[in-house]
Amino acid sequence: MGTIGPVLPTTGALRPLGLDQVRLTGGFWGERQQRNAKATIPHAHHWLEQTGWLGNFHLAATDDLAPHRRRGREFSDSEVYKLAEAMAWEIARGGNAPLDELSTVVAAAQEPGGYLNTMFGRPGQAPRYSDLTWGHELYCYGHLIQAGVARLRGGVRDALTNAAVRAADHVCVEFGPSGRQALCGHPEIEMALVELYRATGTARYLDQARLFVDRRGQATLPDIELGRAYFQDDIPIRERGVFAGHAVRALYLACGAVDVAVETGDDKLLAAVVRQWEATVAARTYLTGGMGSRHEGEAFGDDYELPNDRAYIETCAAVASVMLSWRLLLATGEARFADLAERTLFNVVAASTSLDGRAFFYANPLQQRSAGEALDRSRPWPRASSSERAPWRDVSCCPTNVARTIASLGGYVATADGGGIQLHQYAGGTVTSGDTALTVATAYPWNGTVRIRVDRTADAPWSLSLRVPAWAGEAMLVTPEGAKRVGPGYAVVSRAWCAGDQVRLKLPVAPRWTDADPRIDAVRGCVAVERGPLVYCAESVDHDPAVALDAVNVDRSAPLSERPLPALGRDVVALDLPAPTTSAAGNGWPYGSSSTAEAEPGNLTLVPYHLWANRGPATMRVWLPVAPSTPDRR
Ligand SMILES: [Zn+2]
Repeated sequence: MGTIGPVLPTTGALRPLGLDQVRLTGGFWGERQQRNAKATIPHAHHWLEQTGWLGNFHLAATDDLAPHRRRGREFSDSEVYKLAEAMAWEIARGGNAPLDELSTVVAAAQEPGGYLNTMFGRPGQAPRYSDLTWGHELYCYGHLIQAGVARLRGGVRDALTNAAVRAADHVCVEFGPSGRQALCGHPEIEMALVELYRATGTARYLDQARLFVDRRGQATLPDIELGRAYFQDDIPIRERGVFAGHAVRALYLACGAVDVAVETGDDKLLAAVVRQWEATVAARTYLTGGMGSRHEGEAFGDDYELPNDRAYIETCAAVASVMLSWRLLLATGEARFADLAERTLFNVVAASTSLDGRAFFYANPLQQRSAGEALDRSRPWPRASSSERAPWRDVSCCPTNVARTIASLGGYVATADGGGIQLHQYAGGTVTSGDTALTVATAYPWNGTVRIRVDRTADAPWSLSLRVPAWAGEAMLVTPEGAKRVGPGYAVVSRAWCAGDQVRLKLPVAPRWTDADPRIDAVRGCVAVERGPLVYCAESVDHDPAVALDAVNVDRSAPLSERPLPALGRDVVALDLPAPTTSAAGNGWPYGSSSTAEAEPGNLTLVPYHLWANRGPATMRVWLPVAPSTPDRR
């Protein structure tokens, strides 16, 4: 069987190892993968039935889908497809899920000619492709095709893979060179078509993807109130300097563009996306790796416009960013892409889901000013509006997106090339590539030590490359030849290996203070605390109700002491530090000459940001104001 993974380029610097080759057996990600299988996937399945979004397919198949009977938003079909994709990966990695049932329901709703969407084209509904701006028909196909590819990669041809291929063929006819010269308002189908090309070898899928990438930016879509930048139709991606507009759309388009560039040898297109990634990471990305600073248009903001309380940081944008970084890593072999993927996985993707796997954030701000009320978990909630994770939302793109990502996470960990094996993310498990088998043992990110044991190997020498994250500054590498210091990038151990050989990488996960570029006005005068790849935050539930988190000050020379916090999980580390509070006097006007507030001694507890809001409604902040320095009395 071939490699089983979400992104399998035919060429590039690195060849991904699949989730059949990288097994996560426990620890931080292994436990989350098990929770995803046991809790999140069945939870999403339940809600798709409960809300009628799955029922739409039943009704479509029986010609009973009068408009008043259809449930959900115009893109609700895609949630069924993303759940199908999650189930396909779960089955491919050896688990169980009722995918056959779902696939049969989906396939039965497909029309002759391959068209498939429960929102359009039936008596009483708007005609097919009559609202490409907002209708999401091609976006939905993209998710159907990705689900089909996941199934094909697992070695199965069934009703789902057949439906995906028929939909793709339909799109190539309908939107090809002699078809409609049109675009979907939401990119997504581009990367799906390239992956279907990779999975089947059918070149017209790649041609169609390239056509869609090149067609965008030509003002094909209408000039809406938010401007054509909202759906990246203002400037061709080849000419753009930085990601802009709706964050998920921009990042999905960039994924498709990288895929097209890699498969067609279009180095200029690849370089254009790398340039935009650099500009976006330099000035439009949060400490957590989150992207998208504006609620308006769910969009990237201007450079350095990174508010904490109003941060949008949609979970889907984080998933999309990880997908993009992985593609750029495979294309270039550069560690910086794996660095951002790690930051985003630990601090946004992990934060998006509750500890029980059944509630989800849509937005992931870095400050919560009001605790709000406990959410009733028996009903869906409006999006992006509470301090607690919701079980489901009217717009519920994020839970299924996280489910498919976590189910396929083994496919984002390691690669191989002609010289050996590269480990980009550290998670307990096993890695196999050809004649070589490794065991990775680690309690990362709580502990910085990663042990790699060679279980099986060929006689010829090969190289083991271990990523040292930029945040580490320096790490200690212990090999059979001895110990040495290594810097950020890839630490490479080249030798003739024997079964039983061990390598140990020690990453310095002691807590550290982090500053921000002063141009990020929202956090000027503040510091954050990180520990290894984890961003920390202060949460009100750890403090006396009298301590207002907006009144704390920290002294960065203060000691940060570690202690276990079993209430949030085994191995979880909390941090304590002295932090005086200054409660400003409320005079009915929050401005004036210098504050006369008195500082009172106090202590602050910091917890990993990804674990906040698991102990009831809470206020929270990541960036902490630095105490004003003592006045200079000279
Ligand atoms: Zn989403």
